[in-house]
Amino acid sequence: MNMLSAEQKNCLVCGHPLRGRVDKKFCDDQCRNRYNNGCRNRERQNPLVRQVNNALLQNRRVLETVLAGKTESVRISREKMMEYGFRFRYITGMSRHRNGQPLFYCYEFGIRPLENDLFLVTRKKEE
Ligand SMILES: [Zn+2]
Repeated sequence: MNMLSAEQKNCLVCGHPLRGRVDKKFCDDQCRNRYNNGCRNRERQNPLVRQVNNALLQNRRVLETVLAGKTESVRISREKMMEYGFRFRYITGMSRHRNGQPLFYCYEFGIRPLENDLFLVTRKKEE
């Protein structure tokens, strides 16, 4: 058996026979781009991905509403945030405040737990 009779592979997008490197998957950049765009679309259509993305965007809208008209920060109760539709399990990041307490992020907003189920919502400072 010689190398030339190795299994014929075809482009994953258009199905044209591939020549050249054995690990080639596409005939050209156009097919590669079409394939990658398709993957991203499938990702966005995945029910869990959609649900989480929607929840995060909804949280971001709540924070924008809560901070509307206020430049720096606002104190708000957990109850009030939940009334607005904020869902605490959907955040985009987490770190620690200087005082050692957790600091949560949702996009450009910071959410810091204070005493008595209060939260300080801030626009994230540039770092
Ligand atoms: Zn192709």
